[in-house]
Amino acid sequence: MSAVSGPGVSYRVGRGRVVSFNLGDLELRLDEVFDPKADLSPYFGGRDLSAPEAFPTRSFYVSSGSLRAVVDPSDYGRLVSPGHFRAPPGSAPPLPLEEQLAAAGVSPDSVTHVVVTHLHYDHYAGVTRATADGPSLAFPSARYIIPARDWAMPDMVDARRKGDSDVTETLGAVEAAGKLELLDGPLDLGEGLTVEPFPGESPGHQVVALRSDGASCYFVGDLYHLVEEVEHPELAAAWADAPALLASRRIFSERAASERALVLPGHLPAGRIGRRGGAPSWAEEPA
Ligand SMILES: [Zn+2]
Repeated sequence: MSAVSGPGVSYRVGRGRVVSFNLGDLELRLDEVFDPKADLSPYFGGRDLSAPEAFPTRSFYVSSGSLRAVVDPSDYGRLVSPGHFRAPPGSAPPLPLEEQLAAAGVSPDSVTHVVVTHLHYDHYAGVTRATADGPSLAFPSARYIIPARDWAMPDMVDARRKGDSDVTETLGAVEAAGKLELLDGPLDLGEGLTVEPFPGESPGHQVVALRSDGASCYFVGDLYHLVEEVEHPELAAAWADAPALLASRRIFSERAASERALVLPGHLPAGRIGRRGGAPSWAEEPA
């Protein structure tokens, strides 16, 4: 596997190709992510947890054989307006996903599958494009695979019932077009691409894997937001189901380390999980 510079960052995984795109940074404080009443000093030492930190928002493209997939299509313009408190001051966001895909030689019509790891808005805001006639599918020929258990989350059910615009203009429009597929369990898409539940961040959170010629790569969504969560798998975001997340991380890190897999989180640079003194460790992949 090797990284190639260009639009996004490209990797070869066996005979497959993967491209990681940053759609724009979001500012978050760690005391919003974790319970500020918990003692976080074992994980973060004297780090100022009330200082804003920038988290990239990533979307991914995978091609393997006849399969062309987009994982977690986001839309930075839908997440933050100019001057929004989550947008780093004075920074211009990268190009939208459609333009970054075009620069990588990918046409939206060629995409056969869209897989969403979990139904937090930063991971699916780009399933549709806004047009004067309302939302249109960003990938008109694709199957859209989302986790059934997230679709049934109370806040998602409420948003669908109330006609909340974020949901109705994105996943609601995909559903109305008859292209939404609810997944509850593992799925083999063929050409080495699989989807598998790893719950905790959300009830239905799932991970997408590409295996080709002995190499493997995992699109892990928000199984980890920070390197500290890889190295301390019990460190869970305030909204997570901590026991489920810990179980998912233990299974995942064992597997990723034994396969020497490339790991692509939603908000971290790509890396690989190893073992240091019996605990998982993280090494960023050179770009
Ligand atoms: Zn996220």
